[in-house]
Amino acid sequence: MLTAPLVDGYGRIHRDLRISVTDRCNFRCTYCMPVEGMTWLPRSEVLTFEEIERVARVCVERFGVDGIRLTGGEPTVRAHLPALVAKLATLRVADGEGGVRPIDLALTTNGATLRTVAPALVDAGLRRVNVSLDTLQRDRFVELTRRDRLADVLDGIDAALEAGLAPVKVNAVVMRGVNDDEVVDMAAFGRERGVTMRFIEWMPLDADSQWSDRTVVGQDEIVAAIAAVFPLDPIVRGSEPAERFAYRDGRGEVGVIPSVTRPFCSTCDRIRLTADGQLRACLFAVEETDLRELLRSGASDDELAAAVARCVAGKWAGHMIGQVTFVRPRRSMSQIGG
Ligand code: SAM
Repeated sequence: MLTAPLVDGYGRIHRDLRISVTDRCNFRCTYCMPVEGMTWLPRSEVLTFEEIERVARVCVERFGVDGIRLTGGEPTVRAHLPALVAKLATLRVADGEGGVRPIDLALTTNGATLRTVAPALVDAGLRRVNVSLDTLQRDRFVELTRRDRLADVLDGIDAALEAGLAPVKVNAVVMRGVNDDEVVDMAAFGRERGVTMRFIEWMPLDADSQWSDRTVVGQDEIVAAIAAVFPLDPIVRGSEPAERFAYRDGRGEVGVIPSVTRPFCSTCDRIRLTADGQLRACLFAVEETDLRELLRSGASDDELAAAVARCVAGKWAGHMIGQVTFVRPRRSMSQIGG
């Protein structure tokens, strides 16, 4: 059934589909959303599980997409999320040897409700999870997320481990003067809890437009701070965005996603489906392909596949953050799907 891989004009093959299941969130992280004034998508504009499954199936079966990550907004606030996981977990991708294999199905969440939902997600077929956590200090957590839920998130991380999700990765956006003094504490937290910390450079996708290049804490600074306390050795980088480092004492690894100081656009293999069914070839794309309209007007799988291929074919070389040609996308991270 595989027709051809999803290749863009720069020869990049796309195998990773990020699906936002909702634009709503139970947090209001300062670097992502405004305190109020978000306009939520009307329910009728949000893709149904059947529509999401159809797009996913076309991408997996026609184009060999083999990784799907559910995100948002906060994906766990979408009712019956395990039902969607169960549908996606049945997808099989060609293994190149005449057989098929399961796709890599993952979830990105703020973790606050994992204690309740992790077992059902695992039963439905979820295998791994990324939890976003930017501070270990309660006051700071309240300031950053505008919610007093640090204890729930920490408990959620334990719940994910107990439910058998593996690996559990914890993502922290590092911002100058906000939480850059906690990088070593968070690295220590990852080592102690047996979770992989990933530090993310802050990108200009905040709804309040507070980002500036002075507020970015770059990879070199993050790695130097950690290595001064816990010596590190680089791990050879694959196609994934994280630059990875092994702790020399053998206690796991840590990573940095250097989207700003070392963009990985030349090896980017991601496409994104927003909650309202718009396909984006880049997080920073200013153009979207309307798959919802196609889905709801009786388009065939061939027509859907052609629209996906066209969207990817038009992908630009890179996002240009920090250069005069950079254009901020109209939608913020929570609306696109992080
Ligand atoms: N609510 C879920 C969560 O908290 O993981 C999923 C959506 S959230 C938008 C996905 C990721 O995007 C989170 O790790 C968040 O920290 C990150 N993020 C949001 N705004 C960002 C920004 N301006 N720069 C870098 N990362 C950002």
